[in-house]
Amino acid sequence: NRRIVLASRPEGAPTPNNFRLEDVALPNVQEGEVLLRTVYLSLDPYMRGRMNDAPSYAPPVNIDEVMVGATVCQVARSRHPDFAEGDWVLGYGGWQLYSLSNGADLIQLGKNPKNPSWALGILGMPGFTAYMGLLDIGRPKSGDTLVVAAATGPVGATVGQLGKLNGCRVVGIAGGPEKADYATRVLGFDICLDHKDPNFTSKLSEACPKGIDIYFENVGGKVFDAVLPLLNVGARIPLCGLVSQYNATRLPDGPDRLSLLMATILVKRIKMQGFIIFDDYGHRYGEFSKEMSALVTSGKIQYREQIVEGLENAPEAFIGLLEGKNFGKLVVHLNNQ
Ligand code: NDP
Repeated sequence: NRRIVLASRPEGAPTPNNFRLEDVALPNVQEGEVLLRTVYLSLDPYMRGRMNDAPSYAPPVNIDEVMVGATVCQVARSRHPDFAEGDWVLGYGGWQLYSLSNGADLIQLGKNPKNPSWALGILGMPGFTAYMGLLDIGRPKSGDTLVVAAATGPVGATVGQLGKLNGCRVVGIAGGPEKADYATRVLGFDICLDHKDPNFTSKLSEACPKGIDIYFENVGGKVFDAVLPLLNVGARIPLCGLVSQYNATRLPDGPDRLSLLMATILVKRIKMQGFIIFDDYGHRYGEFSKEMSALVTSGKIQYREQIVEGLENAPEAFIGLLEGKNFGKLVVHLNNQ
């Protein structure tokens, strides 16, 4: 078996030295278990948190342990009554060519799924995050102005498109003109701004002449600073992620804006709610799955992936994800046939 383990904990941005590629023996398959051959590995921003030895909603990866991650696999060997060799499953095998499971954490994808990797994106965790965060916490109404950053990633792109389907005016924020162009041309956003533009703050204000009713928070940092003064009375903020801060080693430079934030929330009666998708909404996965499949099949929701070939390229791709080098949902294809 070939796998990537956490070699050391990053200080700030991760480097290739924080990961180690190693070859080990294939595990034995016990009665009641399946051996899974990983075909696709999902790379997601939350993995940065698992590299830290700090309390969070999920335990950290230990040093010398395989990096965690959702995977789409084929059953290579089965000693489990519910799985046959060749079946496709969604699991949590991590950064390795083969993994073992007792079946409890697996979702069947059938014998011949059309786009198996989509179970890691639009039809899986990121799509579910966009769907619940926007619809349950954001509560979009026709005519609302919705702002979302990381606009071409699997969460942001889905939030913006669902916003359009719910009658919102959608303002995206993305890194660079190519992504911004894609968000308006392909995803149908009304406008998309480049957060690297030196005039970003004033452009956001111009793009939101009626203020902001929903800010779907994916990034934090200077994007949130620009959003804060534009929030309307009764605005909703689904607090989904803060990716611009995941590599931070200390609090940002002053002045301290906490009292400004608190006063804005108070005076404008803003609802800001954090959520951890499966902990808070796991019971609604069935509803999401049915509705999102229909939206994707009918072409009402577009989806873009960036596929990287080879397990050995996962660390570099992951490091790039935290810097916005990905364009679309980042997935590694393991060429271990
Ligand atoms: P993406 O594929 O969108 O990747 C992250 C993107 O963040 C990058 O491509 C980049 O896009 C943007 N970014 C990185 N650094 C910065 C920065 N300094 N300022 C502004 N933007 C930056 O990721 P996902 O769609 O998978 O995830 C989006 C967010 O949702 C993340 O914060 C993630 O942690 C969160 N999340 C939360 C979940 C929950 O349960 N709460 C579940 C799933 C995801 P660009 O180049 O366009 O700036």
